[in-house]
Amino acid sequence: MYLADYHIHSDWSPDGQFSMEDMAEAAVRAGLSEICFTDHIELLAIHTATRRTFDFSVPLEAYRRVREKMKGRITVRFGFELGEAPRDFPYAEEVLRQLPETDFIIGSEHQLEGIYEGDDLYFCAAHDPVTAREQILEYLELVEKLAKWGKFSVLGHLTLPLRYMNENNGLHMTFDGFEAEVEEVFRDLISRGCGIEVNTNRGNDPLPGKKWLELYRRCGGEIVTLGSDAHSPKYVGCCIREGQELLRACGFTDFCTFERMKPVFHRL
Ligand SMILES: [Zn+2]
Repeated sequence: MYLADYHIHSDWSPDGQFSMEDMAEAAVRAGLSEICFTDHIELLAIHTATRRTFDFSVPLEAYRRVREKMKGRITVRFGFELGEAPRDFPYAEEVLRQLPETDFIIGSEHQLEGIYEGDDLYFCAAHDPVTAREQILEYLELVEKLAKWGKFSVLGHLTLPLRYMNENNGLHMTFDGFEAEVEEVFRDLISRGCGIEVNTNRGNDPLPGKKWLELYRRCGGEIVTLGSDAHSPKYVGCCIREGQELLRACGFTDFCTFERMKPVFHRL
């Protein structure tokens, strides 16, 4: 079975501590055939509209070194996770133009706007179900803007708020009741040629789960990647096999990897 982990952070991400080499060695130990680095590009500082600047020569050099070193053992691709693009689409496009030889871009949302002023869900996720539902709607409105824009390969971790509401804050929330909003997101993604990821969430509930993957498929969605969201070697490849089984159970016949922004389909 071809196993590919398409969501891996190295120490170029602000919240990563391990080198690309450490992560790639872990991927070989986990029996993976391919990985893609997806370090965070967070365009704006939280709570302000201050644009960040990036020196992409640093991760590019690290990537080239690792790719060379791992030759014949594992395929290594170069991507990014572009966060919060709807806060400043023109700047997002400017940054995308600066990216070197990129294979893959995850588009994602981690922050809430309005009264949350761009705070990260990690910090501001609700502790009660009423506020949680308001936050999910707010989050989905941002994701919908992102999907309409569509300048990325796949939408990352569609149901991300659940990670913090349930795993960290002890709630039992779902996206039930937001079927219309999610369907609109899927239809926009598909029409823009974008896919989604199954974020295996380091072994916790996959983001998104079965119900939403089936809806994506019913909408005609075909492009799906699998990614662990590992920030440490321990989680590289975590539950990728289980994610493939989940996709099969939802009726998918293929999953994707990417090369120079083009999807490559692999049999499940
Ligand atoms: Zn993310």
